[in-house]
Amino acid sequence: MTLTAAQTASALARPLDGRVAIVTGSTSGIGLGIAESLAELGARIVLNGFGDPQEIERTRETLSTLHGVEVIYSPADLSMPAKICEMVAFARDVLGPIDILVNNAGIQHVAPVTEFPNAKWEAILAVNLSSAFYATKAVLPEMLERGFGRIVNIASAHGLVASPFKSAYVAAKHGVVGLTKTVALETARMGVTCNAICPGYVWTPLVEKQIADQARAHMMTAEQVITDVLLTAQPNRKFASVEEIGALTAFLCGEHGASITGAALSVDGGWTAH
Ligand code: NAD
Repeated sequence: MTLTAAQTASALARPLDGRVAIVTGSTSGIGLGIAESLAELGARIVLNGFGDPQEIERTRETLSTLHGVEVIYSPADLSMPAKICEMVAFARDVLGPIDILVNNAGIQHVAPVTEFPNAKWEAILAVNLSSAFYATKAVLPEMLERGFGRIVNIASAHGLVASPFKSAYVAAKHGVVGLTKTVALETARMGVTCNAICPGYVWTPLVEKQIADQARAHMMTAEQVITDVLLTAQPNRKFASVEEIGALTAFLCGEHGASITGAALSVDGGWTAH
């Protein structure tokens, strides 16, 4: 069978071709997995986050070459609202209007409430919650004007239920789920969707780093923390993968995600079914 030129072009087109996506905290872990999934489907990507500049440049170039899309990098520190506005302006200037915003950047600190450092509380709320508000506020007017937008907030199972020693993280992630619902209601008739993904444990540097802190807080070994603290809440007893979170984000950003808005979608092996 010979394909017509139009059929060939449509067979080659990818679902997110031409879309511009900002993925915060995408130099590592889940954010990088999401950037990969979106780039694979044709989206042009704004990477953001901290790390070794040479390693970030390698990641940027690999992503771009592998998927044939433009990939740029913003070093914006998301704890600072002015830097968030700068990142959005830079993205718009270089790539054009923003179609997709993934609020993913996040940090963690584990300690009992009575010993929780005030500075850590402030930092976690700023990066994990307030940055999603400021970034949403910066991209939304143009999304509404153009009648299209996809906002995906990477919350957590801790946006739905709590665990001890994570007061700031649990408060911030519950806040992210609330913000998601509000933005969804305000934009429901205007072609914009806003959803939260609530992962259980995903094997990334963020989880790796907290094992030592958890071991101290619970007076356990690192192995005991993995089996008896982390995965004990997750009925399937498996870490989720960054590819799974990336694929769900890509689905929400595609045409079949159009009617899903205001949802908090669990990817937690059954954790929040308890
Ligand atoms: P990670 O530590 O691997 O990545 C975090 C990213 O955020 C990095 O790119 C880092 O540079 C960036 N970042 C941190 N502070 C920043 C700041 N001030 N400004 C800009 N970028 C900043 O972590 P991860 O596990 O991939 O987590 C990503 C998101 O997923 C977080 O919001 C986290 O709360 C959430 N999450 C993770 C898990 C898990 O098990 N890993 C589970 C549920 C939710």
